[in-house]
Amino acid sequence: MNIRELIQRVRNRLRPQEELPNEAVLGFLRVLEDVRAEELSCEEIYSKLDEYVECEMDCKDAAHVMPLIREHLDICSECCEEYEALLDVVEKADKDQN
Ligand SMILES: [Zn+2]
Repeated sequence: MNIRELIQRVRNRLRPQEELPNEAVLGFLRVLEDVRAEELSCEEIYSKLDEYVECEMDCKDAAHVMPLIREHLDICSECCEEYEALLDVVEKADKDQN
């Protein structure tokens, strides 16, 4: 199963009315190399959460690959809850598969 597809499906169910942030804005943020975690918006984190979870499911060190996301999750309970919910769903789906 494609994890990213699954996550998108879960997200669409969780927040059907939410609009995705403007791609141009996200592109601009990505260029800022020295941006600090607390300066990232929750929308930016949210847009990366699927990548982060996917990374973790691939048994990579997600916190090392995307340290800013990890940092933000540590300081933002809203995003952390979102992250844990996604991880929970993906882990269960993974278990069902095996
Ligand atoms: Zn946040």
